[in-house]
Amino acid sequence: MGPLESVPDDEILGQLDRVKADGKCPSCSHNTWGFSPAEFALIPIENGRIMIDRAAPVRALTCDSCGLVRLHNIDRLMRD
Ligand SMILES: [Zn+2]
Repeated sequence: MGPLESVPDDEILGQLDRVKADGKCPSCSHNTWGFSPAEFALIPIENGRIMIDRAAPVRALTCDSCGLVRLHNIDRLMRD
């Protein structure tokens, strides 16, 4: 796995807007989200093995009211 290029925050937020990913929090129904500046890796585990080569790059939005964290797969979100 090579070095990862981070997608700029404004491109992520613009694409979330374009795909209308602006719904209410499924936990508490508030609609104010905080956007984490950090990129995270979601790493699958199969048969007890950590599959780091298949990690998915994700960005997190956190509900300002209840703290629910939702993750968006950046590869999926930003594909053409
Ligand atoms: Zn919430």
